[in-house]
Amino acid sequence: MKLTVPSFYFDFHCIASRCTDSCCIGWEIDIDPSTAAYYRQRAQKNDSFAARLEQNIDFSQTPHFLLTPQERCPFLNKQNLCDLILHLGEEHLCEICDQHPRFHEWFGSYKESGLGLCCEEAVRLLISDASPLHFVQTEIEEAPDDAPFDPQLLQLLLLLRERFFAVLQDRTKPLSQRFCTLLSLAEQAQEAIDFGDTEALEQLTKDSSVSLPEPSKEQPSEVLDAILSFLQTLEPIDPLWPQRLQTLQNQLPKLLSKKYSPSRPHEYEHLCVYLLYRYLLKAARDGELLSRVKAAVLFSLLVLVLEMETAADFSLSQQIINIKALSKELEYSDENWDALLEQSWNYPAFSCQNLCSLAASLL
Ligand code: SF4
Repeated sequence: MKLTVPSFYFDFHCIASRCTDSCCIGWEIDIDPSTAAYYRQRAQKNDSFAARLEQNIDFSQTPHFLLTPQERCPFLNKQNLCDLILHLGEEHLCEICDQHPRFHEWFGSYKESGLGLCCEEAVRLLISDASPLHFVQTEIEEAPDDAPFDPQLLQLLLLLRERFFAVLQDRTKPLSQRFCTLLSLAEQAQEAIDFGDTEALEQLTKDSSVSLPEPSKEQPSEVLDAILSFLQTLEPIDPLWPQRLQTLQNQLPKLLSKKYSPSRPHEYEHLCVYLLYRYLLKAARDGELLSRVKAAVLFSLLVLVLEMETAADFSLSQQIINIKALSKELEYSDENWDALLEQSWNYPAFSCQNLCSLAASLL
């Protein structure tokens, strides 16, 4: 099987107790059947760790760790290290703990993997190098996956995504223009997919000229206000998140009163490229490309707005925390991500014109 990964993928190591976060807090982790069977067997031994396994795992229908009243994994010790690794070895982690924060996508005998942005270390690896993001391919031993997809569309999407990356990484152009060109190309590509027009889609994979979206009739402040209102309708992961959105909303006139220059512009290029890498090929299953491009642009612009909120002395570590927070709220809640994709078709603030005018006013 052919595997594609971002160039930094194999550099990842969880920084565990040095992380300001812990993936072992606030999430109720399900344990896969074979690991649950091992834990159940291990719990029969006559020692104190066996008793901990017995008391802290719910072995019922869907086995899972029982969170403490402080919402911590019961095996996360005071030093924020994992006692399962310390007592049983890394090879006995359940699949979710072992794989996190990696993500994988399979299309028959082709696989793509990456590191999710809900992890601080993954974000650091993504944004700390200013050179254009690139991906590497390798061959791995793995049986083909049998989930259905459209192979012809996949081939075109791979080429189209390369073009999207080239547009985003063309540093001779301002970032706002790159985002607008991307949105325009994605709109045309969606039309071609909807009409089954393979020739038009093929043409878009080549270096053809692109007309930018028509100027929006909405004020960028109205667009951003509507987007922040929509985000407040989603289920928060962090209980303080809605308050943060509200504060941003209150500050909009001030934030948008002048053009802003991001501290490290490459971070926004990387973010958008990476989100397209993660989500775009899923369109080979459902034909929905434009919603994913809009989500990638919107995510990148929202990170920029979070930077603008804390502009003075904006540090890399603050950026990492902002990206992680937004990723958790949007990407790591299936309901929220689905709502965002769904609304991107209908909600006026998410039109290509509005997102383009927002990009132009922010950057
Ligand atoms: S956020 Fe990343 S670095 Fe931090 S504990 Fe989780 S996996 Fe490790």
